[in-house]
Amino acid sequence: MRLRSLFTVLFGVLAAATAFSLILVMDATLQRAVEDRVTERIEREIDHVEQDMRGIAPENLDAFFRRSARELACRITLILPGGRVTNDTDLRPADVPQMENHARRPEVIEARRSGRGDSRRFSATEQENRFYFARLLPDGNVLRLSVAASHVRELESGYLWSARAAVILACVLLFVIGTAASRRFSEPIARLTEAASAIAAGLPRDLPREGGQEVQLLAAALQRMKDSLARSAERAEAERRLTAQVFEKLPDGLVVLDSRLHVLEANERFAQMIGIATPAGRALYDVVRLRAVYEVFEASLKSGEGTERTVRLADELVWQVLVVPLPAGSRAAAVGVLRDVTRLERTESMRRTFVADVSHELRTPIASIAAAAETLEEAAPDESERRELVQLIQRQSARMKELIDDLMDLAQIESGAVELLLEPVPVADLLREVAQDLAANASRRGVRIAITGDANASVAADRRRLLQVARNLLDNAIKFSPEGDTVRLVAESGPGWAGFSVSDNGPGIPRAEREKIFQRFYQVDRSRSKARPGTGLGLAIVKHLVQVHHGTVEIEAEAGRGSLFRIRLPAGRDGNTAAPGHAG
Ligand code: ADP
Repeated sequence: MRLRSLFTVLFGVLAAATAFSLILVMDATLQRAVEDRVTERIEREIDHVEQDMRGIAPENLDAFFRRSARELACRITLILPGGRVTNDTDLRPADVPQMENHARRPEVIEARRSGRGDSRRFSATEQENRFYFARLLPDGNVLRLSVAASHVRELESGYLWSARAAVILACVLLFVIGTAASRRFSEPIARLTEAASAIAAGLPRDLPREGGQEVQLLAAALQRMKDSLARSAERAEAERRLTAQVFEKLPDGLVVLDSRLHVLEANERFAQMIGIATPAGRALYDVVRLRAVYEVFEASLKSGEGTERTVRLADELVWQVLVVPLPAGSRAAAVGVLRDVTRLERTESMRRTFVADVSHELRTPIASIAAAAETLEEAAPDESERRELVQLIQRQSARMKELIDDLMDLAQIESGAVELLLEPVPVADLLREVAQDLAANASRRGVRIAITGDANASVAADRRRLLQVARNLLDNAIKFSPEGDTVRLVAESGPGWAGFSVSDNGPGIPRAEREKIFQRFYQVDRSRSKARPGTGLGLAIVKHLVQVHHGTVEIEAEAGRGSLFRIRLPAGRDGNTAAPGHAG
């Protein structure tokens, strides 16, 4: 029940109870007071009648009594010492002698004994309740006056009703004042309660400062509590936001599970990795369909220990899965982290392959050199044999040097430490220079080098590095070209770019191998490359050098139809279009 209605009911009951008990007490008191007054009055009247009757002749006495009774609104009776009634104003004189003997009436007995007596009782003569007052006269007779109880009640009721009305009015006033006062007290509390409920529901409200001092103190205390709660909520919200941001921005997939292995929370990366948009609320087995991943969760929750495994999936994907069970007592039972380590794994495997490849590439020349040295020492070869062996050692040493130079070059280019001196380089000049450099190689195989194309093409490039690119490509073309055939170098240009292409009519490159030939040590067919020695690093160097020049390498080649490599770089005709200085 609301405080206000409670006070209203309370004051209502209180006012009604007060009115009822006051009226009861007042009725009794008034009745006594009225009776006392009636008694006093009749006592006085009896005295008057007694005095007045002394001078009245006996034959006039009855008339005197009847007149007095009318005036005084009472009944007057005269009773002889024996109890016989001689006069009674309520009966006709003729009926008086038939009246019952009154000697045994209580007021008469009392008057005879003590001089005065009274009683209150039912009158057989009048058929009603009456008050009787008797007085013993000096001649031994008893004079009696009586009034009807109803007469006394009539007198009473006048006072009674006005007193009752006063009491009721006072109680109504008490009720009205009480409820008004309680309202003054309860209304600020009701408003406080309303404001507190609004705050609890999250609405931005201030607590009203009104009502009595105590209520104001309560409001101030509530306001302080609200401010401190708001500060705590703000802090909690800031922390929640920070946690949420960290959670969302983590590069790893993160999932929090409950004890039934349902997803409580998962970040975006997790959803993306497992390929389910909203995993929250779903069972883990429903969300993580990858058996190998699910098993890590199972194993960890079964053993109750943190478990970490590297899981290999289809499409060469490699994930590191870490599951940590959480201590009991919270909603969350375990946290899982999925990290995509595919690139890391690939790099690691490339590093392993690279070391194996380098070792392999070095082992062959070293073995040849070692064998030649052994023969020189032990077999005492003749002059021509000795020369051959020395030439073999020189060739193999040169091959090793070439390999090491290429490796160093590649390492330098890959690390981004290459300083480019960009300048406009006329492509035709560059092609002529590279053709001259490799003229001896070409003539050994009877290969002709044809230079054609845009004589004005110019690129923005580091001349020395671009020569290295062209040399590697032309070297390959000569190497793979059929003997006696022609290798073509064509200067090219287009809007914003310039470059060249190198083509031959050699075995070409199968479509599937086109990307791979740019990897270090990759050779399309090792047996075919045996006849044409190379380090397997040339195209890797080409690719990286073109990249640092912001250019592209294209291949047009089919197996058995020859190959064409096209290099495009930013044009450098006026020497202005070149990007300045440094690339990496
Ligand atoms: P290599 O030192 O073996 O020539 P490269 O990196 O220059 O190493 O070339 C990688 C592989 O690409 C070669 O071994 C060869 O299989 C293939 N290749 C390169 N250029 C040509 C070409 N012009 N014709 C056919 N195959 C080529």
